[in-house]
Amino acid sequence: MDNLLASLIVPPGKKIDLRNDYDPGHIGHFMSKEDAEDAIAAGIRLLSLQQDKLYAQDTYALLIIFQAMDAAGKDSTIKHVMSGVNPQGVQVTSFKVPSVEELNHDYLWRNYIALPRRGDIGIFNRSYYEEVLVVRVHPEYLARQHIPPELNDRNLWNRRFDEINHFEKYLTDNGIIVLKFFLYVSKEEQKRRFLQRVEEPDKNWKFSAADIHERAFFEDYMEAYEDMFNHTSTANAPWYIIPADHKWFTRLAVVSVIHRALDKLQLEYPKVTTEEKDALLKAKADMENESDGPGSTRKKEKKGGRKKA
Ligand code: ATP
Ligand code: MG
Repeated sequence: MDNLLASLIVPPGKKIDLRNDYDPGHIGHFMSKEDAEDAIAAGIRLLSLQQDKLYAQDTYALLIIFQAMDAAGKDSTIKHVMSGVNPQGVQVTSFKVPSVEELNHDYLWRNYIALPRRGDIGIFNRSYYEEVLVVRVHPEYLARQHIPPELNDRNLWNRRFDEINHFEKYLTDNGIIVLKFFLYVSKEEQKRRFLQRVEEPDKNWKFSAADIHERAFFEDYMEAYEDMFNHTSTANAPWYIIPADHKWFTRLAVVSVIHRALDKLQLEYPKVTTEEKDALLKAKADMENESDGPGSTRKKEKKGGRKKA
């Protein structure tokens, strides 16, 4: 598994070629969905145990970013991978086209206020990375951002890469672990999934004509993604390119990367001091010696059968 995970990472400081170096249909050494089911279930169970400790320890936070083309499976990956974790410790935020209020702030603002608290897992379904993806593919979005004209120049994208790298360094320096997943679906598989949305009544609700329109820009997006990986895969916060033509493999890869990242933290339940342990034992003794109060569920003794203390 370690070799597989190493092959998914975008090596910091190296230039990758998305098309030639990564394969959306990759399934590692697994033969089929059935073959991987036990490994996925085990990963989900382990993640649940780790999250319990992360929450109890209240020290680190985990930020998981998902970026992908439409129909790559972000939503279903989040649903499956997180199926074992305590909902109290997880928040999912979906970033859509920015609202008027959001456009009146700098682009990191809406992301910043959605960051996970210590002990929590925050999932970003899309993120500030849209600022170097959809906004780059469709510069008309930039026009709505109220950017001072002298800053709206050719260097804008490189500046954004730097800003994002600094932001993520700040996050990791403050105990927020950043994991970034690109679910890499092929154009052919995307078409197959779009057609399914048309043909299967239960999937009709997922169909969006806007998605079909966006598909025409698939190659432009791949270029923007590649440039983004080459500028923002850092030692603090590397990118993982997750093959997404087989949903079961996507789940397995994502759960494995998260599990390994949490494993590195060597999470433990908080230890109690001797004094705290003494206090616990005293509380236990107090409860055992409690006299029945008004809320007691013990069987009432016969009237007059018990003297007042
Ligand atoms: P799903 O379709 O599964 O509900 P989704 O993430 O595709 O999930 P949509 O509401 O379909 O959600 O699309 C959100 C749209 O918002 C995407 O096209 C995305 O590119 C766009 N978007 C997100 N952030 C920005 C941004 N900063 N500027 C412009 N567009 C953005
Ligand atoms: Mg969509």
